[in-house]
Amino acid sequence: MLSKKFPRAMLAHTPTPIEKLPRLSKLLSGPNIYVKRDDCTGLAFGGNKARQLEYYIGEALQKKADTILITSAVQSNYLRSAVAAARKYGLDIEVQQEERVPGQPSEYYKSGNAYLLKLMGAKLHHYPVGEDEEGADNAMYDRAEVLRKKGKRPYVIPLAGTHTPLGALGYVDCAEEILSQLSDGSIWIDAFITASGSGTTHTGLLAGLRARGSKIPVHGICVRRDQKSQSERVLKKTNEVGKMIGHENLISEKDILITDATLSPGYGRLNDQVREAINLAAREEGLLVDPVYTGKALAGLIHLIRTGRFSKSQNVMFIHTGGTPALFGYPDLIE
Ligand SMILES: *Cc1c(COP(=O)(O)O)cnc(C)c1O
Repeated sequence: MLSKKFPRAMLAHTPTPIEKLPRLSKLLSGPNIYVKRDDCTGLAFGGNKARQLEYYIGEALQKKADTILITSAVQSNYLRSAVAAARKYGLDIEVQQEERVPGQPSEYYKSGNAYLLKLMGAKLHHYPVGEDEEGADNAMYDRAEVLRKKGKRPYVIPLAGTHTPLGALGYVDCAEEILSQLSDGSIWIDAFITASGSGTTHTGLLAGLRARGSKIPVHGICVRRDQKSQSERVLKKTNEVGKMIGHENLISEKDILITDATLSPGYGRLNDQVREAINLAAREEGLLVDPVYTGKALAGLIHLIRTGRFSKSQNVMFIHTGGTPALFGYPDLIE
C-alpha cells in the first residue's frame, strides 16, 4: 500500500462494492454507469469521511490524544463520521458547527447529521461564519489550549486547505482498491466522477491512480468552490499528496478535470439539476444520493453525459461518497 508508513485507525468497511446502474444508464442514453458504493463504508451511515478519518484518528491515537476537535458545516457528514470514529475508539469529541448555509428550514438544524451528532453525545460549539476556515481552526486551537490546561490531550483535525492532507491517504487507498477490483479484466473504466469539495477525495483518488500508473481521467464536480479556485486547489493538493507517498510532480494541469456546471446557487443549496439527479437515482435505481454532495455530483455527471463528454460504448464510475443522512435535513426534495 502506498500509504503504509502512516499510522492508521481501522474505520471503513472495505472493499466497498461496485454496482452497475443499468436503468439510469439507459435512460440517459450515454455510457454505462457504474457506482463505487462508498456510501457503504459502514461507520455510522458510511461515506467518504470514514476512509479519510482513518489517518487523522490514526495520528491522534499515535499521539495518545484523548479528545478530538473538528469543525464543519451544521449538516456535515464529516462531523457525524468524526464523532462516530471517536466513540469507536473511546475518545472525547468536540465539534464546531459553522454557519455555512444560513436561512435553512428547521430540519436542517435538527435532523439528519445534526441529530446524529447529538445522539452520539458530541460536545457542540458554534462558529458564526461559514467562509473563514482559518478563523474556525484558530477557535479550535484556542479551545485545545483550554483543554490542555485542564490536563487533557486534544487533537485538532484542521479545516483549512493549508494543513497536511492526511485524509487524502484514504482515497489513495481507495484508488488501489478500485484498481485491484478491476484487475480481473471483467470491467474496464474510462473515467471516474466524484464530488470535489475540500478536494480530499478527488486528490487522493487522482494521486493514487497516477502513482500506480493508471491514466484513467478523474472528473471532479464542484460542490463548494468555482471551477477556477477548485482547479488550483486540486492541482496543488494532489502534488502534495504525491510527495507524501513518495512521488514528486505526480500530475500536471491536464489531469485536472473540473466542472462547476451544477454548483449554483452554492454550497448546500439545491437547484433543479440536483433535484432531478436525486429523484432519478431514487426512482430508477433505488439509489439514494444526497442534496449537498452526491446529488450535485450526479447532476454533474448527467451534465457531462448530455453535453456529449462520453460515448455510449464507454464505462464510467461514479464514486458515491455518501451523505445520505443529509436527505432528512432537506424536506423539499420530492418532485
Ligand atoms: C465531504 C463530502 C464530500 C466531499 O469530499 P471532499 O473530500 O471534501 O472533497 C463528498 N461527498 C460527501 C457525501 C461528503 O460528505
